[in-house]
Amino acid sequence: MSNVDVIYKKVHFRHDPRWSAITGPSAGDVVLCVACVIEMMESKDVSCVRKSVALAGVGGVLKRSPGAIKELLSQDARVGLHFIASLLGILRSSEDSATLEQGIQVLVHLLLELQSEQFVQDVLNDIHTQLSQQASVRGFLPIFTFLGKLVDVLPALPQTLACHHASPVQSHVHGSS
Ligand SMILES: [Zn+2]
Repeated sequence: MSNVDVIYKKVHFRHDPRWSAITGPSAGDVVLCVACVIEMMESKDVSCVRKSVALAGVGGVLKRSPGAIKELLSQDARVGLHFIASLLGILRSSEDSATLEQGIQVLVHLLLELQSEQFVQDVLNDIHTQLSQQASVRGFLPIFTFLGKLVDVLPALPQTLACHHASPVQSHVHGSS
């Protein structure tokens, strides 16, 4: 399933080709379009199954073509942040455990590949906002799972958390470990 191309045909014709990852010699070999991923993740008309398949596709590209997504996102930091924010939105909005699991995996893998303090910082800011808006404990769980996995792959993360997010993230992270 991870070999699925990540193109949202309905909207893709509107997108600049520079946001597409191409694996072959022709433009028809598009495997992923950053703009399509963002639109799919943010759309209420796209089913969670479709989102989950798309996330698996993003994960597949991360595995098969290391650096490809990083290269696309490095063209414009704002688009990179938007891409990551759209994935974080899945953690906030999805009720489906398979979709959540895919979203967490892709985010962790992506942040590891990007190796950018700015992106990690932005993710932490977003989570900080989510935590202060989240009313139910259940809603926190995907975020904690994600943070736990992120701490595993980015050993410097706890320090970043402690420096910039005294509360509530820090207390939750420490309380849950
Ligand atoms: Zn597109």
